[in-house]
Amino acid sequence: MLKDNYKLKGLRKQLVNDLRAKGISNEKILDAIYNVPRHYFLEAGFSEWAYKDVPFAIGEEQTISQPYTVAFMTQLLDVQSGDKVLEIGTGSGYQACILSFLGAKVYTIERQEALFSKTASIISALGFATIKMILGDGYQGISAIAPFDKIIVTAGAPSIPKNLLDQLKIGGIMVMPVGEDIQEMIKITKVDVKTLKKESFGEFRFVPFLPGVNRNMK
Ligand code: SAH
Repeated sequence: MLKDNYKLKGLRKQLVNDLRAKGISNEKILDAIYNVPRHYFLEAGFSEWAYKDVPFAIGEEQTISQPYTVAFMTQLLDVQSGDKVLEIGTGSGYQACILSFLGAKVYTIERQEALFSKTASIISALGFATIKMILGDGYQGISAIAPFDKIIVTAGAPSIPKNLLDQLKIGGIMVMPVGEDIQEMIKITKVDVKTLKKESFGEFRFVPFLPGVNRNMK
């Protein structure tokens, strides 16, 4: 892990300015992006790439989402300090750390064991001790801990799993990219037991939301 330094902090400041110019207006989120060093989530040697607004391969055919996408989804989620948040698709762990930095109580599920183990050590090295990481199938959610104030899915599926909607509090918000090859960013607000408010926020591209757990350790 390359230690943080002034150069990388400067690149992070620039990234924050880029995101502001692209329409991210929530200053708390911009502050989280400035404070959570994204280069820790990439392989050594790619530190400068960490602060370009692009997605990046992290192994196991998975990617760390583009910073704009992380900031945009976090903004849609309207995270408040103390919120109980379920994330599906831990991946690199970056999104989970941004949510945790904002004061959320984060539960995050990853289906790939190899990635889960690698990310667990990064999250712990960074000191985000309150993030609860679960190796499991996100389609199941976590019924023992539900209901959640917020649910964020960072992998794409053709439809919104009912199981997850059931685990959302009344008044809660769920954000998920929905679609097969290209996804539409959907925000669902659970107005009451029977009423869901659905809003659409443009096209994004995510890796697929796959069923089951992959215990194939490399
Ligand atoms: N949030 C991540 C980006 C995730 S990429 C970040 O900040 O870097 C999507 C992740 O979802 C991948 O790691 C993939 O393995 C995982 N995934 C796909 N289907 C899943 C499922 N059913 N349960 C849990 N994780 C899943």
